[in-house]
This record gives sequence, C-alpha cells and structure tokens, in this order.
Amino acid sequence: SVITVDLADRPYEIHIEAGLLQNIATYLAPFARAGRFLVVSDENVAKHIWPGFHRQLSDANLAAEIFVLPAGEAGKSWLELEKLTDWLLEHHVERSDHIIALGGGVVGDITGFAAHIVKRGCSFIQIPTTLLAQVDSSVGGKTAINSRAGKNLVGAFHQPSVVLIDPEVLESLPRRQLAAGFAEVVKYGLIDDLEFFDWCETSLDAFFAGDASARQHAIEHSVKAKARIVAADERELNGTRALLNLGHTFGHALEADTGFSDRLFHGEAVAAGMVLAFRYSSKIGLCSADDANRAAQLLHNAGLPVTLADAGVSAHGAKLVDYMMHDKKMAGGKLPFLLAHGIGKTFLSKDVDLADVAAFLDSQLPAG
Ligand code: NAD
Ligand code: ZN
Repeated sequence: SVITVDLADRPYEIHIEAGLLQNIATYLAPFARAGRFLVVSDENVAKHIWPGFHRQLSDANLAAEIFVLPAGEAGKSWLELEKLTDWLLEHHVERSDHIIALGGGVVGDITGFAAHIVKRGCSFIQIPTTLLAQVDSSVGGKTAINSRAGKNLVGAFHQPSVVLIDPEVLESLPRRQLAAGFAEVVKYGLIDDLEFFDWCETSLDAFFAGDASARQHAIEHSVKAKARIVAADERELNGTRALLNLGHTFGHALEADTGFSDRLFHGEAVAAGMVLAFRYSSKIGLCSADDANRAAQLLHNAGLPVTLADAGVSAHGAKLVDYMMHDKKMAGGKLPFLLAHGIGKTFLSKDVDLADVAAFLDSQLPAG
C-alpha cells in the first residue's frame, strides 16, 4: 500500500509491501532519472541485504555505491558523520543524487542529517530495516547524531523523497529488536486509538510468529498514525507531535541510568516508560488501575520490560527525575509529561509535580 505524508511544501510517499526489496530496482528506477544512488548502511545490514540489492540495481543498469557504518549507536557520531560526508564529497555527490539510508534508525538518522548538510541539501531515500525504523524513525523527517552532551542533540528536519518499507526484511531481525520496535507500535494504540490497542492484543502472537498480514497491518497502521501526527505538526510547534513522546520522559531516565547501552534498548525503555506513565496517571486518579494493568500485560506478553526491576534500574526516584530534567524536552523549568485518562486517551500535562513523580518512582522500586 501507499501512504502519502501531506506536508505543505512537499508531500512524499511511503510504500509498504512484502517482497519490495526483491523488486527494489522497480521502486528506485523513477528516481534514477535525476541522479545516482549513494547507499549508506551498517555492517549487519550490509551483510544481509547489500549483495542482493546491488545485484538487482546492476541488472537494471542503475549505479550504486555503498558506505558502511559500524553497527549500533556508535554509528551516529561526529566522527562517522565526518567520514560519511567526506565519502559523499569524494564521490562528487550532487543535489540531484539520492542518498539512500538502508538500515535501522541509526543509519536513517545520520544519513538524513548528512543529506541535509552536504551541498546544502541532497535528496534522501529511507529504506528502514528494523521495526522501530519502519514504524517510527523513518517517518517524520527528524535526523540527528549524538554528541558529548547527549543523544540526538545535533540534527535537522530533512524529509525523505520516498520511504520504502518491506515487512519481510524483519525476518533476519533479532527477536529482542523486534519487540523493542513493537513497543512503538503499541504506543500508537495507547496514545489515541483503543481499537488499535485491542488489535495489538488479539494479534500479538500472529505478529511475532511472522504472520504476513499481521506484520503488514501493524506497520501500515503505525505509519498512518505517525504520518497524521507529523502532518499536523511537522516541526513540533503546536504540541500535537509531543504525543509521540508517550513513555519517553520516563524512558529517557531509564536509558540514562543504564548508560544508553545494550542493557536496555530504546524501545524497551519506552515500554517500561509507558507503563510508568499509566501507573502514575492511575496513582493520581486520572486513569483506572485496570487500564494501567492492561497496558503492562500486553507489553509484558511481547517480552518487554514493564517495571523498574525488569528494566534493570535500581536508582532512586530523585536520581531518575534528575535525568529527566537534563532531557532536551524540558522547557522553562517545567517538564511536560504525557499522562493518560485511559488507553487511547493521553494528553500533555504541563504541571506535574516532580517531587511527587520522584516519590512515585521510589514506590515502584523492588522492595529491599
Ligand atoms: P539500529 O539502527 O541500531 O538497529 C538495531 C540493530 O539491528 C543494529 O545492530 C542493526 O545492525 C541491526 N539490523 C538492522 N536491520 C536488520 C535486519 N533487517 N536484520 C538483522 N539485523 C538488522 O537501531 P533502531 O532501533 O533501528 O534505531 C534506533 C535509533 O533510532 C536511535 O539512535 C534513535 O535515537 C533513533 N530514532 C530516531 C527517531 C526519529 O524520529 N528520527 C525516532 C526514534 C528513534
Ligand atoms: Zn521512541
């Protein structure tokens, strides 16, 4: 299926099709008229996907070169950005060439940023290969690298020319990475879509078993939800886009406490963070304990952490709140929090009492 992201200045299409990568030359051919393809990937993805990808393009007489990043968050550094931009310039990249991000969110984020700054802006194509990148990071135009001060603090908005999603590429993705991406899928249900949350509950097993229609639906529905939110607030100005941060303020603290390491993936931190947001909402009387339990149960069934103990965090509430205050979303000394009146009924609250949040987090620590 094809979903259009309705941006005022330049709408673009997102194609979601099982087997798309087996026909990649057909999808890329319309763009070949304007320029060459410069592909950026990471060492894992390049190993799995590049040989077949490259063969298909050559068979169709389409020229492509590849730059390979180290896998993982280390790929999103200043050092790698310098190497990547040097490589693009050595290849005499022109604005009409297409820089393709073939990989997960790490590859997408740094490639989009490089495309934004090289020659003051080149065309950029996203081919996301993790569930997280397919349902979240490849849509919306946020690009970034990490710096000493923290993650994603240096970046730009740079929308892709097209996003090409093949659900079958997830077959080689490790189960734990798949679950981490699934947390962001469930997020769209929790934000404002009870019906989709119900579907996630019913289809969980089929999804993880690799059922093609469950995979297609989960991705399609999530991408539509994200595209709708992004179109309503492309540059995060009116608060709509903030809804996408459900679970991310708590999650950020958990990621910070575990050193942004493989001990806790981003999606895993978001899963536990969303449950904390629901449990806190329940504690202050906004939402029922049943709804908080239901959110926790689904994420737990997906194999995701839903408590501080599951997340491997034993820091005190005050310390966790301190991490939150160093997050970039803090404005004017106030931390905006996404809270819930129930599943599918979240809202942005600007007057959360941080001391109360710290006490709540202490109450969530495993006893002893
Ligand atoms: P990732 O890109 O590090 O990929 C996870 C791992 O899976 C890597 O080891 C990668 O090599 C491997 N991999 C990727 N595709 C594979 C495949 N098909 N088969 C086998 N292995 C595969 O991580 P991610 O979770 O995709 O992305 C996380 C990044 O995305 C973070 O840096 C985060 O900040 C960013 N992000 C950005 C946005 C945004 O809006 N721009 C949104 C959310 C997250
Ligand atoms: Zn996220």
